[in-house]
Amino acid sequence: MLYDVIIIGSGPAGLTAAVYTSRAKLDTLVVAGVMWGGQLMWTTEVENFPGFPEGILGPDLMARMRKQAERFNAKFVFEDAAAVDFSSKPFKVTAGNKVFETRSVIIATGASPKWLGLESETRLRGRGVSSCATCDAAFFKDKKAVVVGGGDTAVEEALALTKFAREVTVVHRRDQLRAIKILQERAFGNKKIKFAWNSVVQEILGKDKVEGIRLKNVKNGEESELATDAVFIAIGHKPNTDIFKGQISLDEKGYIVVKDETKTNVEGVFIGGDVQDYRYKQAVTAAGAGCKAAMDVEKYLEKSVK
Ligand code: NAP
Repeated sequence: MLYDVIIIGSGPAGLTAAVYTSRAKLDTLVVAGVMWGGQLMWTTEVENFPGFPEGILGPDLMARMRKQAERFNAKFVFEDAAAVDFSSKPFKVTAGNKVFETRSVIIATGASPKWLGLESETRLRGRGVSSCATCDAAFFKDKKAVVVGGGDTAVEEALALTKFAREVTVVHRRDQLRAIKILQERAFGNKKIKFAWNSVVQEILGKDKVEGIRLKNVKNGEESELATDAVFIAIGHKPNTDIFKGQISLDEKGYIVVKDETKTNVEGVFIGGDVQDYRYKQAVTAAGAGCKAAMDVEKYLEKSVK
């Protein structure tokens, strides 16, 4: 079978794209991944997705998006895309030892937040450990929070947290921030923000929820404990683009080079969501990007010969 479009990825961008393409009566296959649903599957309450005034659990929101795409007859394969071949048409996508052929592709593989790699960090994810202050800051009203990292994201997250938390400590492995000057000035001028310089997190403490962290000073080796209710890891993201290496233009950080919002350097291959967005990283912006990619696919297929 030749699909009109294969969507690789099943977060808000991929599933929104699937709703649009399938509703436009394009034969749509979503290569959803073994762990389908994207980053929202790791969150609890989502309070800022429009249309859910009481909030909705991340996995429930994704299940609804999937149901909506299925309603219009989008097909799903719950395997990871292992390889792509964009060198000739039809394009080929390999998943679960099968090769699927398609006239167009939407890449919506998202980005993965980088984690410290601690067992306690994985165990307490969603229980005080988060990679997104914009999403979860409101849960820590009048509480203490820690942000790990020294870049723009870390400082922005610390500033965002001060609107809710009573104290925010930025833990950074060096004695100088990487963040741009204006953000640094704002952070240094904010009385709620403290810094733990030259420090790394050895362990996140707490059984069922975050209660503190154990820090190590990398200069003198001293260890200390700090009580906190939340730990926001803000040490960068990595776009999920490994399988596209050699098939499509990537920049030095692994982001796909995009022109004209959704287009890549390969005609017929489109892109949307966090895989190209290092700045906003929100479910609603990803959904919007998926919609744009789907509409551009529709236009592209109208012009191209079947
Ligand atoms: P980033 O610039 O790569 O900074 C990552 C930070 O985490 C660095 O301070 C780094 O320390 C630290 N880090 C990395 N790995 C670590 C580890 N294993 N343990 C402890 N610390 C670690 O990432 P980002 O802040 O997410 O920003 C990504 C991109 O988005 C940047 O280009 C940034 O300018 C952009 N951005 C822009 C805005 C804005 O314009 N408002 C907002 C957010 C992001 P070192 O400093 O020691 O390397």
